[in-house]
This record gives sequence, C-alpha cells and structure tokens, in this order.
Amino acid sequence: MLNDGFPSAPSPPKSIHARLGFTNPIHHERHLRVVCIGAGASGLLIAYKLQRSFSDFELVCYEKNPDLGGTWYENRYPGCACDVPAHTYTWSFEPNPSWSSVYAGSEEIYEYFKRFSEKYDLGKYCKFGHEVTCATWNPTSSKWEIIISNGSETIHDSCDVLFNAAGLLNNWKLPDIDGLRDYKGKLLHTASWDQNVDLIEKHVGLIGNGSSGIQVLPAISSQASKITTFIRHPTWVSPAQAQEQHIYSEDERRVFESDPEALLSYRKALETGFSGLWPVFIADSDTQKTTFDGMTTMMRDKLRNEKLEELVIPSWGVGCKRITPGVGYLEALASDKVEVAWGDIAKINERGPVGFDGMEYPVDVLICATGFDVSYRPRFPIIGTSGQSLGDVWADVPEAYFGIAAHGFPNYFMIGGPNSPVGNGPVLVALEAQADYALKMIDRLQTENIRSFEPKLEAVRDFSEHRDRYMTGTVWDIDCGSWYRRNGKVVATWTGSTLHYLEAIEQPRFDDWDFKYAGNRFAYFGNGFSQTELDPEADWAFYLRNKDDSPYMSRNKRRIATTHTNSSTQITQTTVKVL
Ligand code: NAP
Repeated sequence: MLNDGFPSAPSPPKSIHARLGFTNPIHHERHLRVVCIGAGASGLLIAYKLQRSFSDFELVCYEKNPDLGGTWYENRYPGCACDVPAHTYTWSFEPNPSWSSVYAGSEEIYEYFKRFSEKYDLGKYCKFGHEVTCATWNPTSSKWEIIISNGSETIHDSCDVLFNAAGLLNNWKLPDIDGLRDYKGKLLHTASWDQNVDLIEKHVGLIGNGSSGIQVLPAISSQASKITTFIRHPTWVSPAQAQEQHIYSEDERRVFESDPEALLSYRKALETGFSGLWPVFIADSDTQKTTFDGMTTMMRDKLRNEKLEELVIPSWGVGCKRITPGVGYLEALASDKVEVAWGDIAKINERGPVGFDGMEYPVDVLICATGFDVSYRPRFPIIGTSGQSLGDVWADVPEAYFGIAAHGFPNYFMIGGPNSPVGNGPVLVALEAQADYALKMIDRLQTENIRSFEPKLEAVRDFSEHRDRYMTGTVWDIDCGSWYRRNGKVVATWTGSTLHYLEAIEQPRFDDWDFKYAGNRFAYFGNGFSQTELDPEADWAFYLRNKDDSPYMSRNKRRIATTHTNSSTQITQTTVKVL
C-alpha cells in the first residue's frame, strides 16, 4: 500500500493515477498531533513557531504548574533576576523595550513571557496543572503514548511528535546532609520559595554560592539581623562584559520604545559582546589569562578582605563554573552582618548546621541555594524503542545528539538537552535554533511519507567522542564542582561558541538520522501534480525574475550575505574580536 493509511487531500480530476492510488499532489501534509512537555519559555517557543509555520497540526503543552513561565514562574526567591543583560534575554524576534534594568528581576522576565504568550494567543495550546508522568513509544502506531495527571484524574493522550521542554534546572534538590529533616527552623529552597516567610531581624543560614545563592545574599542582607553563609568552593563573581547593574531611566526606555533601530543597535552591541566572550572558555587562550587577571582584581577591589579574597577567588579558569554578575554579592559577603562558614557541613541538627570542627550555627531560617538534579534524566519514564527509559539509558552520562535528540527515542526532541550551548554565549537564540531544527524535521515528517526518525547511534557516539576530545581544551575540563560535568564528562555545554552552534545545526544533517517510511518512501510524489498547480491563486511562474536574488549555494557566500560583512575570503584564523 502506497499511503499506508495516511489521509488524503482533495485531489485533481479523477484519472488512471487516482485509480492506482496516487491521490495527492507532492508534499501533501498529513495531520500531526504534537505534545510538548512544559509551557515555560521553551514550550511557548515551540507553540509560537509551530503556529507560525504549520497549518495542519494539533498541539498540547502539558504544564505541571498552574501557570506558564517555567523557571520564571517557580523561582521567586529574593534577588532572583537575569544573570545576563536582560536585553540579551529575549527572543531574537521579540524585543522588550521596557526592561527596567540591565539585570531585570524574575517577575519582569515572567511578565515578558506572559505577554509573549498573550500576543500570539499561545494559551490555547496550554493545559496547566497537568503533569506528564510517563511517555512510551509505540512502534506499531509510530506514536508516543502519554500519561498525564491533573491531580484528580489520569489522562491518556498520544502524539506523533513529543517535545521535552521541561527544562533542566527544574527538579530542585535539598542538600544531602545528615539530619536536615531534624531542623526545626524554617527550611527553604530558592526554587520553592515561601512568599510568606519573614526574614526581618532573623538570623538566616544560606547554603551555597552558585548563581542562586549569590543573588539571594545581597537581597536579604537588609532584612536579616545576621546571615551565616556556608560555602565549600570559590567561584567567579563578576559582571560579564563588565556590564554593571544599571536602572534604565525613563528617557532611555522611551528611546527603546520609540526607536526600534536604536534598540536593535543596543541589543546587537550586547549580543556581540556576549559572543565575543567565547575565547574565555578556551583554557590556554590569551583572553582567558587577561580575564582571569581582570576578574581577580575586580573581586579583590570589592571584597577588600584578605581572608575572603583567599577563600572566594578561584584558582581555576574563569567560566569553569557559570560566571555570575553577583550584583552587590561580594560587598555583602564582606559586610559585618555576614559570617562565612567555610567548608563542608558535617550535619544539621534541630537548631542549624554543624561544621566538621563541631562548631554549631543555630539559625532561625535555613535557605538552601543548593541547585537542581542536573543529571538530564527525566523525572518520569520516557520509554523508547528498546523498552528502556531514557533515565536508565542515561544513568551514567547523558549522550544526546546536538542537545536535541536521543538514539532510540524516535520523533522526540529536547529543547536544552545535553550539550546545548547553555554557557557558551547567548542562550535564547540557541533554543530558537533547536526549535527550528526540530521543525525542519517535522516538516519532512509531515510531507514525505515518513513515520519516524531518530538519530543514528553511530552519530551520537561520534559526537560524544568529538565532545570528549574537544572539551579537554576548554576551561570546563577540570573538576571545579560545576554542574556542567557529570562523571568526568562535560555534558552541559556545546563544543564551541553559540555562533558555532547556530552554524552547526542550521541545516539538519540527514545522514545522521534513520528514517522509517510509511510504505514506499516516494509515495509522497503522489499524482504528479505540484500543490502549486492545484492552487489557482498561486504564481505558477514564481521562478521568473529580473535579477538573480537567490540564496548562495555555498556556506561561505551565505555567511557573508547573512552577516553583512565585507570579507570576501574564507576566514581561517582562530582570532576572535573581543569586545
Ligand atoms: P548551583 O550552581 O548548582 O549551586 C549550588 C550551590 O549549593 C553550590 O554552591 C554548591 O556548593 C552548594 N551545595 C550543594 N550541595 C551542598 C551541600 N551538601 N553542602 C554545602 N553546599 C552545597 O545551583 P544554583 O545556584 O541554583 O544555580 C544553578 C544554575 O541555575 C546556574 O548555574 C544558572 O545556570 C541557573 N541560574 C540562573 C539564574 C539567572 O539569573 N538566570 C539565577 C540562578 C540560577 P559546591 O559548589 O561546593 O558544590
């Protein structure tokens, strides 16, 4: 059977071809049902892009929270804000002239994504308070079968394509310290903040100096009477691109609002500066060395405390752990109100943490800024072709294809999966590129008689081997306690800059994928008509024009055209402009 049960479109006049089963013109779209796990930034992006480019589809974004926004809905701890300039934290096509400051707060970021959803009417795809609990690939129907819980009932759904946009920094974890449950004071995790908690005149304990802890400390120091912060390792704290916090004046915001070109220039300058940071991550680069020296001086100037300088300023490369601007952090750390308890916590008793030297730290409130489960293992079973769950397959190290797909898991895409460029330069544009890649694949699924596709094992293995070799030359290769590494492998960052990633995944490498067809792979050639010929309003001679404005066929010429450069030759040096 040529179409193998796939639906048919209205056909041209009956002919011998129709009787032979060739009913549709080429590239006839089959109806697709898509499920997306999550309605955070990535889930909304999928909804937006699918809606923009596709017609014959259904989409449901199942979101466990009662509202959209994902991490920006959940993370409401004091001081929670963008840790990169907010104007680089928008979709490339959706600027936000109204950011209040360079490092805008989490509520503003949540509002940005809410406005994005409202503007494009994406809410109609979202089911809130619906948590996906299991997804299983059915090889017979070539569909994902999904189980969802809405708290009161279990719902069954199925789809042709499954997106996992659940986010990585999502499954927050309390520290694994003896006696934590015995603690009788108020216990908080940054990602599960109790808005009713009152810190005024309280002695607060703060565990952790990652990006979250660094934002919390200065934000609570005006309320608490005393803060004891428990730190195990040093970390780099410095505004990237030397962008200190700045509140935009009304005049500045008016210009952003009224002059889109001015805003675009500002955004481009920030984004270009961000991309220019890439050489920092190359272990032996001159940029790493000068950044190391510059940041050391900057941190010393803010700390002005020999003991703290010794403890807090790392000896390992800048960027090994995520760099955090740390607005007011070092100043707060050095203030009289803050006590630094250095080293591991031996246990926690009913009053608070106890150090290995037996020193007790009784606190009224204990804040755990202790991060997330960053294993990339989904928190519910996603069961692929082998019958194994992705969590089991990735028990040791997550081995993905370019951050977006996994072998053995057909028609399955991740946004921000392993080895996505989360710390390589601008992030949101990379998520857009991932969504675009997936949609290019889905376009083929919909129009080329394809049942399913998955990355080949050999492609995943080759990528992992390349990754492991490449990463030895980066600052991430040493064990500085960063969540970018898992069991000795760098699994969270890409093997190059964000711009490198955009080029790497601009076009799908179909040779890395296995396709399964619904019968004859060319059945979609159909009745010999193009869709254009069946559309009386279409320009049937669309290829005729007065000059050749077609895209260039070589990457080099396309790059030159896209990036508006005057360079007419292939670039071979590795020098990069650093702004
Ligand atoms: P994190 O970077 O994993 O930091 C966790 C902190 O908790 C570390 O300082 C860690 O110490 C400490 N810790 C964990 N277990 C501990 C234990 N048993 N005893 C003592 N200390 C312990 O987590 P995060 O700060 O939540 O940040 C995670 C990521 O979220 C960031 O890298 C960033 O990508 C993202 N984030 C972004 C923003 C933003 O503004 N956009 C804000 C916050 C977070 P060790 O270092 O010694 O292990």
